[in-house]
Amino acid sequence: MSNISKIIDSHLHISRWREKDYISCFDKYLKEYNVNKINICAVPLYQANICNNIMLGFYKLLRPNTYIHGGIELIKIPIDNMPCDMDAVAQYRELMDIGFDGIKMLEGKPNEHKRIGNNLNHPALNKLYYEIENDGTHLLMHANDPDEFWDIKTAPKWAVEHGWAYLDKTFSSYEEIKNQVLQILKDYPNLSLTLAHFFFCGKEPQILEELFNQYPNLCVDLTPGGEMYVEFEKNPSYYKEFFNKYSNRLIFGTDRSFMCDEKYAKWLFNLVTGFIATDNTIKSFDNRELMGLGLSDEKRDNILFSNFERRVGFTPKPFNKEKFKSYIQKYFFALSSEDIDRIKPLMEKYL
Ligand SMILES: [Zn+2]
Repeated sequence: MSNISKIIDSHLHISRWREKDYISCFDKYLKEYNVNKINICAVPLYQANICNNIMLGFYKLLRPNTYIHGGIELIKIPIDNMPCDMDAVAQYRELMDIGFDGIKMLEGKPNEHKRIGNNLNHPALNKLYYEIENDGTHLLMHANDPDEFWDIKTAPKWAVEHGWAYLDKTFSSYEEIKNQVLQILKDYPNLSLTLAHFFFCGKEPQILEELFNQYPNLCVDLTPGGEMYVEFEKNPSYYKEFFNKYSNRLIFGTDRSFMCDEKYAKWLFNLVTGFIATDNTIKSFDNRELMGLGLSDEKRDNILFSNFERRVGFTPKPFNKEKFKSYIQKYFFALSSEDIDRIKPLMEKYL
């Protein structure tokens, strides 16, 4: 893969305090994997979006050549009860003023979707899409999950252990969530929307073809979801054509996180880059062979960095330290005591 000229990893997370200082956590990754730039995204998994956003803010303050995507904190549920100076739009404006490069939403993942009242088309969120579309801001959205997560017979064990098996009627179905995303696109057709994990459409990529034809600003990222790589492997000729035809709609990312299992992360990086940037065969998620796409340099570069730069910016946005400070003060109340213990020393040191 020595011919790769540039890589932006569009989809990374920190999302958890650890023993180690997290600011240097991706320095080694950038250097050892020859990754040029990264985009780190908030994810309310182990801690709230507010805490994620603050961690990302400090990261960007100290590593300014980094893209960051912030999340909206659900200050109050139901979501139309959020105070007006802290509703989704107010929070979005604050993040943009600080220097966040885009917004990350996890509200379409079935468990989060349930928290927001099973409705991505909620008026409080519609206001947010409206602003984001108007501004041309990039929105990275995780919506849905692999369809096998809805059935105990097919849900993988690790998904069940994470609470990502959606077995009772309190969760929306795969189809319902998909239809809500289609409605967002209908209502906000120029949204600069990237759907994470191939929108979990590995088995039905025709849906993506239809959407790409209708919505010029829509992209999907290639962050595994191992299941989609299994589908790529099963239909090599279809997917070869698909990747050639839509190379301007596909974005490279790994979903690597702070202190991940390095051996697995390395294997995964080599699998995804090998698939996009070579014509070699690689061991895929089901232990079978996935054949590299053998794309032209131009199409490979679209996926590895050009599409992301075109949509998000050729350089990361500048960072406003004063606005960041006010943001922390305003949302201090939403932090846990552990978060506060970790954030206070960073404020004293860097703000
Ligand atoms: Zn992710």
